[in-house]
Amino acid sequence: MKNFNILTLGCKVNQYESQAMREALLKSGYLASDDREHADVTIINTCTVTSVSDAKNRKLINRVRRENPDGVIVLTGCMPQAFPEEMAEFTMCDIILGNKERARLIPALEEYFSNKEQLVEIPAYENRGEVFEPLTVSGFDEHTRAFIKIEDGCNRFCSYCIIPYARGRVRSKPLDELENEVRRLAESGYREVVLVGINLSAYGQDEGVSLADAVEAACAVDGIDRVRLGSLEPERMDEETVSRLAAQPKLCPQFHLSLQSGCDNTLRAMNRHYTAAEYAEIVERLRRSFDNSAITTDIMVGFAGESEADFEESLEFARRIGFAKVHVFPYSRRRGTAADKATGHIPAAERERRARIMGEAVEQKRVEFLRTQVGLTEKVLFERLRRGYLEGYTENYTPVRVYSDNVALCNQIRPVRLVSAEQDYCVGELA
Ligand code: SF4
Repeated sequence: MKNFNILTLGCKVNQYESQAMREALLKSGYLASDDREHADVTIINTCTVTSVSDAKNRKLINRVRRENPDGVIVLTGCMPQAFPEEMAEFTMCDIILGNKERARLIPALEEYFSNKEQLVEIPAYENRGEVFEPLTVSGFDEHTRAFIKIEDGCNRFCSYCIIPYARGRVRSKPLDELENEVRRLAESGYREVVLVGINLSAYGQDEGVSLADAVEAACAVDGIDRVRLGSLEPERMDEETVSRLAAQPKLCPQFHLSLQSGCDNTLRAMNRHYTAAEYAEIVERLRRSFDNSAITTDIMVGFAGESEADFEESLEFARRIGFAKVHVFPYSRRRGTAADKATGHIPAAERERRARIMGEAVEQKRVEFLRTQVGLTEKVLFERLRRGYLEGYTENYTPVRVYSDNVALCNQIRPVRLVSAEQDYCVGELA
């Protein structure tokens, strides 16, 4: 019997796909192992969102080969799919599968074990007619919150992003399959599901349905108490969608609404298809429709051509919105993208300086947001017991610590009175 180990880089979608591969391997008689040096098969599920991700992929591949010279390495994920022409140099990998071919993992392994010849399968995405990859999961190592990938691909082509090349065009998990998967997770004891995708807001555009339909289907499953949305693009969040979402009491009022820049010049150069004012309108709509909502986001600074004034405008916008949490990152050039060929690239030190300034501003807002939660009694889903405290999240994703060692509360939802705010969490008492 052969054993395997999966190493995952990147986003929640990749984590979901790794879990689906893990379940397929277990079903086929492979044994899961944490012993990296002796695993018969190591699967490396790569991310390629930045050049730093590629460097991490390469480092990991070299380390696995060095530590486990006789094991089979399967390389998959976004890197081989986005850069198939470069895979010839990856002779240390035995099997290379593009994103489309992951469901072929088991037959590919069998083929490799029978002839020991390197196998590379990276078919290109068609521009239309792609079907949603037939992967499903029934559980995760963590037993409270489960991720479900309901959408893959992106049609937007933001100028800095390689993802449409790695993931193809939008395609969606059919509603009945989504519902069955949520039901299976509820039966396995999960209380919360997070719907994730590459461009989640575009869910269903290929199937004639919408994100609101997906949320309604997930919320209708008995046994699931909370449904959360992964990262959203500010598209299709119109009045009708938001009011349908707001009618679902199980939907958590936390929205990670990708901003990238609060300056229209930069948004245009990024090919983002919305203005800062339109973004602010969506935030307003969400805040009006959901009680005690939290809006979180990603902001990129130092994009090619971003002037000091553009940066200041983005900074001011971020302050004005008052996000509950922001992931700030400096732009990094990505070969294969339109922005890589643009003029006006900003020196690294300046990009870092802007990231530092933006980071400080949004941290300040984070603390202000946490302070607004003090005095409220919120439902907390406890996830784990750490040294001396229980840790969980409110519906709007405020992290909460309750000083208690009652492990029986893990995976339970309890009302908690929030009594103080620290830098990155609130302290609470069981109500
Ligand atoms: S919306 Fe833009 S940033 Fe997001 S995956 Fe699509 S192209 Fe990339």
